[in-house]
Amino acid sequence: MPDWPIHLIVPLLALLIVSKKENQKYILLLLPLAVISDFDTFVTQHRALLHNIFIPLLLLLSGLLIKKERPLFIIASVYIASHVLLDMFGGGVVLLYPLYNGMAFIDASLAMSQKNDLLWTFDYGFRHYDKGWETAYGYISDSTGTGAMVFVFLAGVCAAYRNRLRAI
Ligand SMILES: [Zn+2]
Repeated sequence: MPDWPIHLIVPLLALLIVSKKENQKYILLLLPLAVISDFDTFVTQHRALLHNIFIPLLLLLSGLLIKKERPLFIIASVYIASHVLLDMFGGGVVLLYPLYNGMAFIDASLAMSQKNDLLWTFDYGFRHYDKGWETAYGYISDSTGTGAMVFVFLAGVCAAYRNRLRAI
């Protein structure tokens, strides 16, 4: 499963790249939404209850209807949708929950064999939602993920320090 740092960093970067400057405060404030989906672990329907396509669609629709708060809803939608999408690449999600109980997945990997051959994997579709997903398992953050977070955090400290120097 993609760990929390990946879930945080990927949409954060994407949103910061495409957003207007005035929306950056929403992007930072709504960042916890990037990992909120995993709280469905606590209600025994992990990868289903909060890992479906309907929540981001509802947020997107709200953004289209409520013009005044549009950036807020769209940013929230991107955070939840990116979580769902990344989990599709990491095992699968019950994308159409509660209408259909199959797990939508995408497998796309590139590996190097011992003979130095490149091995592509690309597969997608629906697989059975097995009991293993109903209870949480695995890392919240693996070692590489934690290292990545430290790296990004240090970059943030450098940026803040540079801004402070500029302000003096
Ligand atoms: Zn998840």
